[in-house]
Amino acid sequence: MTEKRIGDARRHDGMSDTGMSETGMSRYAPSARAAPIDGSPIRMSGPRKLHIKSYGCQMNAYDSQRMADLLVPEGFVETASPEDADLIILNTCHIREKAAEKVYSELGRIRKLRQAAGRDGRRVTVAVAGCVAQAEGEEIIRRAPVVDLVVGPQSYHRLPALLDRAARDGRAVDTEFPAEDKFELLAPPTREAIRRRGVASFVTVQEGCDKFCTFCVVPYTRGAEVSRPVERIVREVERLAAAGVREVTLIGQNVNAYHGEGADGARWTLGRLLRRSAEVPGIARLRYTTSHPRDIDASLVAAHRDVAAVMPFLHLPVQSGSDRMLAAMNRRHTVADYLAAVDRMRGARPDLALSSDFIVGFPGETEADFRATLRIVDQVGFCSAFSFKYSPRPGTPAASRADQIPEAVKTERLQRLQGAIEHHQTAFNAGCLGATFDVLLEKPGRHPGQLVGRSPYLQPVQVMAPPDLIGEIVAVTVSRIGPNSLHGSIAAAADHGRSAEPITTAAGA
Ligand code: SAM
Ligand code: SF4
Repeated sequence: MTEKRIGDARRHDGMSDTGMSETGMSRYAPSARAAPIDGSPIRMSGPRKLHIKSYGCQMNAYDSQRMADLLVPEGFVETASPEDADLIILNTCHIREKAAEKVYSELGRIRKLRQAAGRDGRRVTVAVAGCVAQAEGEEIIRRAPVVDLVVGPQSYHRLPALLDRAARDGRAVDTEFPAEDKFELLAPPTREAIRRRGVASFVTVQEGCDKFCTFCVVPYTRGAEVSRPVERIVREVERLAAAGVREVTLIGQNVNAYHGEGADGARWTLGRLLRRSAEVPGIARLRYTTSHPRDIDASLVAAHRDVAAVMPFLHLPVQSGSDRMLAAMNRRHTVADYLAAVDRMRGARPDLALSSDFIVGFPGETEADFRATLRIVDQVGFCSAFSFKYSPRPGTPAASRADQIPEAVKTERLQRLQGAIEHHQTAFNAGCLGATFDVLLEKPGRHPGQLVGRSPYLQPVQVMAPPDLIGEIVAVTVSRIGPNSLHGSIAAAADHGRSAEPITTAAGA
């Protein structure tokens, strides 16, 4: 039994490659920046190619895009194929042991690929970014000498200078938490990059975490909680909307702890930021993730009640249904607090669908604790959820506890938990049969003539529709429930304001 998200909601935790080709203007000749490290020949014709592989959460997916944006003016174009790349960046995740280990097996493959490129007289530069980079620093180069550059999530705006340093000194490591605001120093995406990435986009509004759950590495790898100022976020949303983006997901490790400074000098809540973002012309849908149960406040509840663009979907991790486990995890909320938060949100938006994160086999978890987790799944009736076996992370308090749970018990509990989640997800999807709701059409579907979009509850929905409807919101009546998506037909155009810019994709062009 593998850890997974039950459901096919947008892979907010999914692995993705950002590689796609793009033609960018160079401020520098490719040879002037990021020159080959060992003096072997550089690609003589055309721009240098960049491949980024992103692991883990939506914050990494966003950071990968920003790294690509940053390197376009340096003369790089993206490629989906690592074999073709002059620079490979692995943007890594350290949240569970398996996620971190994947990086080292990928580096083994890259070593062979670099040897093959070397036989053709071409040098490939290899960078490790993200939370493994932050947690392990120089150790990565010791363990995998193929790596030239290590850069943490708070210092990747320095990538061009680090590439220079790696070219000069043979290697570069930067795992600082600099005082400067990296977002202000990053190149904004080009209009072409935004359009290529589609009509739904992430915007980081908050980073880091001060909560220190006893199982979690995030406070150590991403640092203290910081919120971006309101006006900078609004400018970014406006830029996305002007290029055709219709849906924005505001992201942060603890997004509802958002407290960025507004132009009025006040600290704004996430609820207020959602209201302001909804005013941006062209933006029809807003989501946010990931929320903490303690930080659900009146302004967020009111935004769900009052702002039509805020989708009736909430990802609210609970981790466990046992108060004893929640205390041991230092979650700072009880089961009753969690259920009260759900009730408040459902009071404001009765059609609200909920998803969650669960950890099974946290140290000391008894069968009774685990049954309490199964109970909360039934009580809330989640439409989807991520579920994980507890993974001890070096340096976190829970990792050194003596009462670790045997692997076989974790596996068995995960299986039972996933069965319970699946039961509710199936019931939720079955309830959609015959219903009509708004779908934002995002891209071509699997079959000719088909488009795929998202329901308000993040379910993928397949419809037969012409490609010029990409970026439009249409009312769809659901006629069939597939294993991974809903199928339906267009009942009527339901667009809430047109896109600021019609999107054309490969199918729509
Ligand atoms: N900030 C969010 C919250 O408070 O719930 C979660 C962010 S964390 C990046 C995403 C999820 O990974 C967590 O909700 C938790 O379920 C899971 N996770 C974190 N550390 C873990 C560990 N050591 N073992 C297993 N799962 C873990
Ligand atoms: Fe990790 Fe807990 Fe912070 Fe979420 S709230 S990022 S689980 S420490």
